[in-house]
Order: sequence, then structure tokens, then C-alpha cells
Amino acid sequence: MPAAGPSSEPIIPTVPLTAQMRDSLRAIVGAKGLIEDEHGKQPFVTDWRGLLVGRAGAVVRPGSTEEVAQVVRLCHDHGIAIVPQGGNTGLMGGATPWPAHTGIVLSLGRMNRVLELDPTGYTMTVEAGCVLQTLQETASRHDRFLPLSLGAQGSCMIGGNLSTNAGGVQVLRYGNARHLVLGLEVVLPSGEVWDGLRALKKDNTGYDLKHLFMGAEGTLGIITKAVLKLWPAPKDVCTAWLAIRDPRAALEILSEAHSASEDNVGSCELMSRSAIDMVLRHIPGVQDPLRAETPWYLLLEWSSARARRDGAEGMSEKMEQFLADQLEAGRVLDAVIAQTGHQSHNMWRIRESVAEASRAEGPGLSYDVSVAISRIPEFIDLGLKAVLDILPSIRPYPLGHIGDGNLHFSFMAPVGMDQQTLTQYKAAITRAVNDLVTSMDGSISAEHGIGIDKLDELSHYRSKTELDIMRTIKRALDPQNIMNPGKVLRL
Ligand SMILES: Cc1cc2nc3c(=O)[nH]c(=O)nc-3n(C[C@H](O)[C@H](O)[C@H](O)COP(=O)(O)OP(=O)(O)OC[C@H]3O[C@@H](n4cnc5c(N)ncnc54)[C@H](O)[C@@H]3O)c2cc1C
Repeated sequence: MPAAGPSSEPIIPTVPLTAQMRDSLRAIVGAKGLIEDEHGKQPFVTDWRGLLVGRAGAVVRPGSTEEVAQVVRLCHDHGIAIVPQGGNTGLMGGATPWPAHTGIVLSLGRMNRVLELDPTGYTMTVEAGCVLQTLQETASRHDRFLPLSLGAQGSCMIGGNLSTNAGGVQVLRYGNARHLVLGLEVVLPSGEVWDGLRALKKDNTGYDLKHLFMGAEGTLGIITKAVLKLWPAPKDVCTAWLAIRDPRAALEILSEAHSASEDNVGSCELMSRSAIDMVLRHIPGVQDPLRAETPWYLLLEWSSARARRDGAEGMSEKMEQFLADQLEAGRVLDAVIAQTGHQSHNMWRIRESVAEASRAEGPGLSYDVSVAISRIPEFIDLGLKAVLDILPSIRPYPLGHIGDGNLHFSFMAPVGMDQQTLTQYKAAITRAVNDLVTSMDGSISAEHGIGIDKLDELSHYRSKTELDIMRTIKRALDPQNIMNPGKVLRL
């Protein structure tokens, strides 16, 4: 497996699909639900970054929970490995089968129905294959708000979002994906269906099983349905782009923004000038909102569910006053407030296109880490020094969800360096970054998960006790290790 993978491939079940098994799968999902030709399977066995390419005996696309359960039961009875897949936008290789994989990729894309929207109860019951953006738009049509929001929202699916416990740009206010869920339905590795599809805010009946499956990256079962929480739709939104003194100023600005906005901070995204320039180089149609003599910028958004009333002070007026105060305090060097939906969209497009731009830029390294919020500036200083000591010509472009203490500590290869040469530095840089994170009591994966990429890192940094608990849970639910084998944990 190329660049992004760990040092050695884990042992996974390699029972091949027989002709009889293929017939049985076809009988369950129908001919259009089974992809067997190499060309058709290609997008399902290649990861979004184009770094990992695996194999699969077939891609299976069930259309209902019952079909998922039948497929899993069949695989269980024959020891066939299953890789669950949603939109295939994950950045850690969790949805990509290993090259030794002989089983199936189980794609949830056909399970894309919104089953119920309850505006009074502020809930939405959905199938796992619904595209996130479609769910946001559905909620919006009912004057409700689904706050999960990330750059891949046009193609990632809610089952994948929950399985990675996705973060994104609204965590600051609403929490990670797992905080937006009331109930789940899951097909277990045995093929049994666990019906936990309850729309309850309060339910202290033993272990909270739904949280076991969220963030498990498909290693414990297949999420087939979810009850999601909704919020009132935002009515008064103000987006601003700030040139700021440094990351410490970003924290001070955010800290004061909470009360200045009357607790209406929706997003606060730190961006380096180099990340912005990379987007401007590769993404057509975006405009630079502001250029100032600083390497640091902040995208700040305030939103209220209360519509702006004539004559009353709204989010924009509050933001204007706030930015004037911050300019005076020397934290903000310059700022622009979006005056139109187009301007706001342009600001967000810059932030959300960084992953796409980095893919176009060429080889690079990226670390999705978190530390306590107030330690972000210290981490940036020490981390940059540590990496530049190893490879002085590497080009950093850090950015992050600063209000969550989550930094995408990212680097482009030195100009002209190819992927293979960069890979020679990868082990030393990864050790330096993750040792620093750990010494600061942080996490080596804030929101992207473990997948294939961080398999070795998880076992290196988590305690034996923690790994033993995880393995015990995995073995109890999936004794044959058929459910997304070789991801998250080495057994
Ligand atoms: C441009 C871009 C921007 C991104 N921004 C963010 C961001 O801001 N925050 C963030 O957290 N992530 C981000 N990501 C990463 C990615 O979009 C998220 O991890 C997303 O939640 C994955 O959803 P998916 O449907 O594509 O899942 P996939 O990639 O298909 O799968 C991800 C994992 O979940 C498992 N899985 C998928 N569906 C199911 C299911 N129904 N049941 C059980 N297991 C399942 C897979 O086996 C795999 O391990 C970004 C990615 C891109 C490409």
C-alpha cells in the first residue's frame, strides 16, 4: 500500500467470494445492487486523496436495512470480510479496503431516504446513505437547522459522518456528530439488527450503546438509520474575515466574541496565509477577501435564530462594534464583513476548499490534532520548529477549528519534491508532531479518525489498558473480525 499506509499490513480474513456467494448476494440486492467489474469497482476501492488503492471481490449496494442484514448474515456465515462505505470522503483510509481484501465493499448510497421530519420535536429520522447537504437542505425547508457542516458535505453521507464522529465548522456551538444523535439502528457483524432508533433526549437504561458505534469507523457494525437533533434555522447571520496579529490573538478574539455576540458565535476558523494562497492558486472563482501584512487570518461567523428587527441592533452591528474594539486592542489588523450572500459564500468557499486545493497542489503531509484550546499557539510554535528542523524547506499551511482546539497541522512538500522522497521524511516528522501533541496531553486524531493511516500511531500512543478495552469490545461484537478488518485496531 502506498505512502499513507502503516509499516505493515494487518492480518485480515481473506476468504474469497465463490460463484454461489455472488449468486446469493445478487438474489438479495438485485443485479443493479452488485458491482463486479474492475472498472465499476475502482471508485469504491480508491480513497478520496488518491493515495490508497485496495481491492474487493464485489461492491454490494443494498437498498434497505433488511437487505443489509441479509448481506451481513451471509458474509458472517462464510467468514467474508466487509468494508462499509458512505460517500468515501474519509481522509484516513477507513473506507478503503486493503489490497489483500477479498470480501465486499458495502456501499450505503442507495439507502438515502428521509423517513420523518418532526419540526415540533426538532428531530429528523434518516437512512445512513443520505448525503449530508441534502439533509441540511431538507431541514432548512422546514425552517430547521442541522448544524453538521464540513467541506465534503456535497458527497459525504450521514452514516459515514456518524461512523467517523465528524467535526467540521460548527462544533464550537453544537458539538461533534455524536452530539447530534438521539437514536441509531445498526446491523451487527452477526447480521442481527439492533433497533435503537429512539427519539429520546433522556434514556438512562444501562450502557448508551449508540456511542459505541459512532466513531467506530465501521469496525463494530453498520449504521443503517439515525434520529438526528435539529435546531431553529438561523435568521440573522454575520460572516467576517479578519487579518489578525497571531494565533494567540485569535484565542483572545474568540474568548471575547462569546459575550459580545450574546453567545451567538457559530464558527471561528483560523487560517494561515499559505493555506489561503494555496486555495487561490487552485480553486477557480474564489476571491481574496483581504490581504494584510500578517500570516494569520480568522473566519468568524455569528448567527442568531432571531430575525433582525427594524431599528434593532442585529448581528452585523454587534460585529462591527466588536471588530472596532479588537482593532483598537491590536488583535485585529484589518477586517471585512460580508455584505452579501455571495461574499459570505466566497469566504466559506476558501475555508472549505483547502483539502481540495491541497490535493491539487501535490504531495504533502497533514496532521489532524487537538490540544487544550489555550495551548494552540504554543503547539504551533513548537510544532513548526520541530518539523522545520527535520525538513527546513517543507512548506507549512496550518489551519484549524481553533475554538475546538483542533488544528490541521499541514505541510506541502518542498517545491519539486515528489511523494516518494517526502515519504522518506514522513516517519520522523510524524513522530515529532505526535510526540509533541502527546506531551501536551493532546490527541493524535481530533476529528478524522484512525482508519488505515493512524493504525500504528494509535497503538503507539494509547495505553495497554485502553487498547485492551477496545479489543475486548471488538472481539465481543465481531469475533471473526469480518467488519472493516485491519482498520482502527490491530488485533
Ligand atoms: C474536502 C473535505 C473536507 C473535509 N472536512 C472535514 C471536516 O471539516 N471535519 C471532519 O471531521 N471531516 C472532514 N472530512 C473527512 C470526511 O468528509 C468525514 O470523515 C466524513 O464524515 C466521512 O463521511 P463519508 O460518508 O464520506 O464516509 P466514508 O469515507 O465512506 O467512511 C468513513 C468511515 O466510516 C465507515 N462507514 C461509512 N458509512 C458507514 C455506515 N453506514 N456504518 C458504519 N460504518 C460506516 C467507513 O468504513 C470508514 O471507516 C473532509 C473530507 C474532505 C474530502
